[in-house]
Amino acid sequence: MTAQTSEAVLPYDEALAAYDPVMGLEVHVELGTNTKMFCGCATTFGAEPNTQVCPVCLGLPGALPVVNAVGVESAIRIGLALNCEIAEWCRFARKNYFYPDMPKNFQTSQYDEPIAFDGHLDVELEDGSTYRVEIERAHMEEDTGKSLHVGGATGRIHGAEYSLVDYNRAGIPLIEIVTKPLTGAGERAPEIARAYVATLRDLLKALKVSDVKMEQGSMRCDVNLSLRPKAGEPTSPEQQQVPLGTRSETKNVNSLRSVERAVRYEIGRHAAILSGGGRVIQETRHWHEDTGITTSGREKSDAEDYRYFPEPDLVPVAPTRETVEALRATLPEPPAQRRKRLQSDWGYSDLEMRDVVNAGATELIEETVSAGAAPAGARKWWMGEVSRRANAAGQDLVSFAEGAGLTPAGVAELDGLVKGGRLNDSMARQVLDGVLAGEGGPTAVADARGLELVQDDGALEAAVDKVIEANPDVADKIRGGKVQAAGALIGQVMKEMKGQADAGKAREIILARLT
Ligand code: ZN
Ligand code: MN
Repeated sequence: MTAQTSEAVLPYDEALAAYDPVMGLEVHVELGTNTKMFCGCATTFGAEPNTQVCPVCLGLPGALPVVNAVGVESAIRIGLALNCEIAEWCRFARKNYFYPDMPKNFQTSQYDEPIAFDGHLDVELEDGSTYRVEIERAHMEEDTGKSLHVGGATGRIHGAEYSLVDYNRAGIPLIEIVTKPLTGAGERAPEIARAYVATLRDLLKALKVSDVKMEQGSMRCDVNLSLRPKAGEPTSPEQQQVPLGTRSETKNVNSLRSVERAVRYEIGRHAAILSGGGRVIQETRHWHEDTGITTSGREKSDAEDYRYFPEPDLVPVAPTRETVEALRATLPEPPAQRRKRLQSDWGYSDLEMRDVVNAGATELIEETVSAGAAPAGARKWWMGEVSRRANAAGQDLVSFAEGAGLTPAGVAELDGLVKGGRLNDSMARQVLDGVLAGEGGPTAVADARGLELVQDDGALEAAVDKVIEANPDVADKIRGGKVQAAGALIGQVMKEMKGQADAGKAREIILARLT
């Protein structure tokens, strides 16, 4: 049993009326390199336990590490994208602590010489305003292994019969990105935390340095939070300098929504302690997704002694300024700027663009448009029919499309079959089902299923005449100016043509006959 004693929490408004939150966010990102940070072992996710290990990442005596050049380049590119200074010379350091999933008994990390420092990331908020997140540092390190506790009810070590350890993840390159203390956020602190992590995730994705899958742990966020009494209107610089309160550190928060909720929860919890005259304990805390609360982990003092010292087995990293500038030239267009450009190219409204972004459909639509579809058509298919089917399957759009073999080129082809007059919308939906069922590309599916609009205008005209004759009262209404009534006749014409007719054309003929 996990003891999830929930603590007192002050209502959010009351907490914010009395205190100013100060946040610090630490994000760990696993790089998508083919090999580990200090050895040649593979990094594939989900491999059999302990099959991607060697003497170096197992920390066997005498094994010597070699730094992964792609890992260093990725670190520099991340630093540059975060507007950081890049160190001209820096070293790795050993962070010593004992934990079963860390085979060397130290983590190779960086301490007082990070590869990147003093940057910032501008974060756009819901209301269109911007908050600048100051970046303290981004440093290189390695991941630990993974423990699996077997036999207990909760999967935690308490109550487990035995534990297993998998070192496949040990030594995978990590970049740790640390913000400066973020002040002045006030009631928007939870929103800012979420927006920062979301913006950072988009940026790292655009850099193609990580798959940034929070649910798989390739991006994880630690939330540091403290409160200090509200200063009121500052009258002197001294008065602004209210000291920081004691912080808590909520570890490994694994979704954007959880980041927001964890900040909100900790604000309420700290406020309840402080307003009751209590003292906040400096500690790490665990976030519980199901109950939406944090619980105490271990007490942690600032003076915790990791006995850092420079790593003697690795040479210093000293990127030349030419190298740094060459890497700067590889930076992608910043995601926020890119979104604005695409929105204006595509002529989408703010709301339409936001839906596209939230659905993670930007790249899909971009590729569909470059495969020849009109932006409106690309949006219609991805955000309409395909999204609906993805929702029904309980999957996000990208994984659904990937899993079903639906490509942007395929959607462009489908859209083209409609635009070119071969299919109507309902036929196109049948073709889409065929493509998703693995029957082939859109044209092949349409051929195999015999889906094609009847191009013979004579047959269509005959069907229209027949339907008009069978529905004299509807026809009279249309003659009398009620053009909307044509819908009823179009439906019948489509039926008459077994769905193989162009509804637009049927409408034209009906109106030509009756008005
Ligand atoms: Zn290895
Ligand atoms: Mn770290």
